Amino acid sequence: MNAAKAQATGFPVSLEFFPTKTQAGADKLRAERQQLYALSPEFCSVTYGAGGSTQEGTFGAVREILAEGVPAASHFSCIGATRESVRQELAQLKAMGVKRLVALRGDLPSGYGAGGEFQYASDLVAFIRAETGRDFHIEVAAYPEVHPQARSPEADLKAYLAKVQAGADAAITQYFYNADAYFRFVDDVQRLGASIPVVPGIMPITSSTQLMRFSDACGAEIPRWIRLRLQAFGDDTASIKAFGLDVVTDLCDKLRSEGVPALHFYTMNQSAATLEICRRLVL
Ligand code: FAD
Repeated sequence: MNAAKAQATGFPVSLEFFPTKTQAGADKLRAERQQLYALSPEFCSVTYGAGGSTQEGTFGAVREILAEGVPAASHFSCIGATRESVRQELAQLKAMGVKRLVALRGDLPSGYGAGGEFQYASDLVAFIRAETGRDFHIEVAAYPEVHPQARSPEADLKAYLAKVQAGADAAITQYFYNADAYFRFVDDVQRLGASIPVVPGIMPITSSTQLMRFSDACGAEIPRWIRLRLQAFGDDTASIKAFGLDVVTDLCDKLRSEGVPALHFYTMNQSAATLEICRRLVL
């Protein structure tokens, strides 16, 4: 960890953004992102739509972040991709000066056949290592509450181990609001011999409907007490945001006090909630 960076928040953080479709969106994202640089992030990552659907926007945002002097990671999903297409994109990323990837399988929208030459993220990690050696620092996804398509919790742990054995350097988790699931996951994978850092993914709560929609899709559990409180707030967005800040700051505080290696914020391209959580954590 870089000591100067750690001072800004008292703790290493990384930040995730998604690429926008319009110029106005890109301008707004730039403004939000630059506010967040006050946190001196270890790196900023940009998501990548499965099937290469956002490649231009993803690489464009990554290029901008690098030009702003901040380390950038490109997410990279392999579903539907061929070895040749991945080889070309890796060469492009390398030429851009990217040193960090978040390697994923990705999810194709329903109706798309998977096709492609990669089945799992572990295949992608192995391919990146075989093609580019140690040129990239590779992060992979981890699921403390179990990936929704996993055959069983044990099968999901094995899938995670396969990514580590293929050459992943670190993992970022799906977001969760139950810290025990994270600690259990870390204990389990360490017992099985995987010792790479597992960085908790943190989703600030700013909107009830958005959170419910995402969580249903990705299998993240919203504990009953949080769900009921959010529902009770109805359209009262100020109360939702205030409650969300308390809940997520407490979660981060607990994770930090138990010695997690860093925090990775799913910013949703908004600076306010992440900035406020980090401000409270420094106090
Ligand atoms: P994998 O690790 O391949 O796992 C997928 C499923 O296959 C799991 O159920 C696993 O248990 C199972 N599995 C894996 N290997 C085997 C095997 N050998 N045998 C049997 N079953 C196996 N999606 C995007 O499209 N773009 C993004 O930018 C993006 N960023 C993300 C960032 C983070 C930090 C996280 C946590 C998720 C992100 N996602 C993104 C979502 C991710 O693509 C989906 O969750 C996807 O469904 C799984 O991707 P994965 O890399 O975890 O896949």
